[in-house]
Amino acid sequence: MNSQDYMKLDDQYAAHTYHPIEVVIERGEGVWVYDVDGKRYLDCLSAYSAVNQGHCNPRIMQAAIEQMKRVTLTSRAFYNDQMGPFLKQLCELTGYEMAVPMNTGAEAVETALKIARKWGYQVKGVPDNEAEIIACEGNFAGRTTTIISFSSEEQYKADFGPLTPGFKLVPYGDADALAAAITPNTVAFIVEPIQGEGGVNVPPAGYLKRVAEICAANNVLFIADEIQTGLGRTGTLLCSDHDGVRPDIVTLGKALSGGYYPVSAVVADASILGLFRPGDHGSTFGGNPLGSAVARAALDVLIDEKLLDRSRELGEYFMGRLRRIESDIIKEVRGKGLLIGVELTVEARPYCDALRDAGVLCKDTHGTVARFAPPLVISKDEIDWAMERIEPIFSNGHR
Ligand SMILES: *Cc1c(COP(=O)(O)O)cnc(C)c1O
Repeated sequence: MNSQDYMKLDDQYAAHTYHPIEVVIERGEGVWVYDVDGKRYLDCLSAYSAVNQGHCNPRIMQAAIEQMKRVTLTSRAFYNDQMGPFLKQLCELTGYEMAVPMNTGAEAVETALKIARKWGYQVKGVPDNEAEIIACEGNFAGRTTTIISFSSEEQYKADFGPLTPGFKLVPYGDADALAAAITPNTVAFIVEPIQGEGGVNVPPAGYLKRVAEICAANNVLFIADEIQTGLGRTGTLLCSDHDGVRPDIVTLGKALSGGYYPVSAVVADASILGLFRPGDHGSTFGGNPLGSAVARAALDVLIDEKLLDRSRELGEYFMGRLRRIESDIIKEVRGKGLLIGVELTVEARPYCDALRDAGVLCKDTHGTVARFAPPLVISKDEIDWAMERIEPIFSNGHR
């Protein structure tokens, strides 16, 4: 079968919930992926930052294989010998007291929203069923019915109602708007430190600091959705670290497993997560030994291979080179670490297709933005290799 055959199968049997770039990948190693015809590409999407540690990272693979031979799933009806060490490592690394292990990012966000509401009723004293949560315009937090209820994208919500009530939106990056929107029933504010799917939107400097102050002053939980920005993507462990803030609740996912297996988590202190009682929440696969073993290795790789520093240093280099492209169609190059958005004056999709033909995989987001977010294991030489291909495509005179 060739690429066309595989794409036809997807077209026929997969519900059309995506509009993929036309490349059929069969193998990956580090920053490189190979299609079914043997052509090599540099991956500048990293599965939306889930493979920060590089494709098929050998250390994570070893941990996965070893755990697969022992036991993979016990359910939380029993204890297992992997989850405790995993959550201890995660809490020590992030500086929180407790964690809830889940699978997908959306589940982590759902978990954070549920515990914020419970905290609102039991600790803050909000009247029953009156809890409000504030989110930002342009947010992306997943695709469940409750999460799309606070999306500002019409398509995400259209024909999927009735939606979950209790959410309010404010403009992203506007701390005054947050302050004005808070009422006595507000239990939480959920925000991405950089909006990934919304177009790599970087808020004004000092925004998160003010958010943290406003939340603290109003007894409102500050939830940072770090599912895309966390775990080294922006050059620090959490993107919130750039602003020196400590959110009350952090959601993590994607790179928590290095792409091997869906592992997500919510971390917070015991004053918040300690409110969960047996039976309040759960997941058959959440905290399973295979996922936990994989996540332990994924965190080890981030730290031992100094991927945070790498992301910061090479991100600056990559962004600097992108900013030097002379191009009438590039409106702005923005981001932090290796989460980089190139905003164009035109639709980004045709440029992503041209980049694919040249051997660089990236994906348009929010219409006019091309996101460059390679695995954090990328080298300077590999960035140079990518730039040799990216530069002519955006340069004046090419099209
Ligand atoms: C990807 C993402 C999610 C959802 O994660 P899934 O694993 O796709 O459910 C939530 N929040 C942010 C910021 C994300 O980028």
